[in-house]
Amino acid sequence: MGVAWGVIGAAIDCYETALAYAKSRVQFGRPIAGFQLVQEKLVWMVQEITKAQLLALRLTRMMEAGAATPAQISLAKRNNVWMALECARKARDILGAVGITDRYSVIRHLMNLEAVYTYEGTHDIHALVVGHDITGISAFGGS
Ligand SMILES: Cc1cc2nc3c(=O)[nH]c(=O)nc-3n(C[C@H](O)[C@H](O)[C@H](O)COP(=O)(O)OP(=O)(O)OC[C@H]3O[C@@H](n4cnc5c(N)ncnc54)[C@H](O)[C@@H]3O)c2cc1C
Repeated sequence: MGVAWGVIGAAIDCYETALAYAKSRVQFGRPIAGFQLVQEKLVWMVQEITKAQLLALRLTRMMEAGAATPAQISLAKRNNVWMALECARKARDILGAVGITDRYSVIRHLMNLEAVYTYEGTHDIHALVVGHDITGISAFGGS
């Protein structure tokens, strides 16, 4: 649950860094923020960050009421880490070559999020937890 919230902060920093860079970086006579493909990436980020915030907030309210299940926490960790990793990848892309360097925070978020994708339950193992919950059938090999 902590991971599901924490990665939202990383995603927001990636989004804000990419947005500021895109508004200042001029190519082909205009800021790259004025190109449709760049705007689509920025919109995807703000859209998915908003959905992840709502998911984490709803799950927190359910935990406070004692109603949250382990599978629902799996779903939140799985979705929000994936969302943040995709934000970091898109932000890195918008920054072009400097996105590979440590001049901006994005590449550090990207490397950290690759690790978070694996620890506290891998992305695929959380899929099996949710899959077991919705089907009643374990894909781990047991019953
Ligand atoms: C930075 C970092 C910090 C960590 N900190 C801790 C810590 O503090 N404490 C701790 O205990 N551990 C920690 N870990 C370990 C982490 O929890 C494990 O790496 C993780 O559970 C995956 O185990 P594994 O590396 O052995 O990979 P494996 O279990 O070998 O998995 C490798 C791949 O196979 C997939 N896979 C495995 N089994 C199945 C299956 N049945 N069906 C489908 N796919 C499957 C996995 O999803 C993964 O993609 C940390 C890891 C990292 C990277």
